Amino acid sequence: DVSKFYRKKGGGSTQVLHDVTFDIRRGEVLGIVGESGSGKSTLGKLITKIEPYQHGSITFDGQEISKLSGQNLKRFRRRVQMIFQDPDSSLNPRMKIKDIILEGVKGFDIKLAVSEEDYVDQLLSEVGLSSDFKYRYSSELSGGQKQRVGIARALAVEPELLIADEPISALDVSVQAQVLNLLRRLKKEKQLTYVFIGHDLNIVRYISDRIVVLYNGALLETGSSEQIFSHPQHPYTKRLLDSSP
Ligand code: ATP
Ligand code: MG
Repeated sequence: DVSKFYRKKGGGSTQVLHDVTFDIRRGEVLGIVGESGSGKSTLGKLITKIEPYQHGSITFDGQEISKLSGQNLKRFRRRVQMIFQDPDSSLNPRMKIKDIILEGVKGFDIKLAVSEEDYVDQLLSEVGLSSDFKYRYSSELSGGQKQRVGIARALAVEPELLIADEPISALDVSVQAQVLNLLRRLKKEKQLTYVFIGHDLNIVRYISDRIVVLYNGALLETGSSEQIFSHPQHPYTKRLLDSSP
């Protein structure tokens, strides 16, 4: 039952999420689909506690996230990771890839079983990048490579929940499939729960077990990918399906 208001510059506020209710089940991929401006990224930022909400509650593993502080908050920050829509703005261009990937490991004082070098090599290989990338800067990477580094950085802290906010939208079509298949493979290999945010219902359906449809900040319907695809209840969902290539 979560609502979100953004403050307006000149005063007052705009409501961008209206009484949204759903759950994310351990081990599943939950897709969030909706057109531009429907509130998908905002919802992702609420779940990861990047943005506050003004009404309702979000609980993670039994704890209301707005009340987390101290060690509990730190633990939450580690357990819930986000991959951002725009890899250009989420990776520090002045940092080497190795340091970007190890940022969380250091920040959360994670004790590694192997050397830092080996750990970075292992993560780079998991996301399909060679170890030569370790000493390069993110500004020297292509969009698809940056997005892979973003995924490696998130995986480095061994999260339990990963929010992927349109992780392939900024990429061209040939690279989209590679990153999508990487996410699918990682889900099978790791004990991960995903939220996959997207605007193309066919792509979201390909990766998700269940789907939440957002329209103008409100939840229109939720169901298994199969249900949403074969028996969409809402006219808007039908339109989304028709407009999807
Ligand atoms: P897209 O598909 O384009 O990424 P989205 O579904 O992710 O869109 P949001 O980024 O969540 O949409 O934005 C939802 C609404 O909230 C939009 O109307 C947007 O203008 C507004 N909004 C987003 N961030 C802010 C902010 N920091 N301050 C004020 N308004 C915001
Ligand atoms: Mg967005």
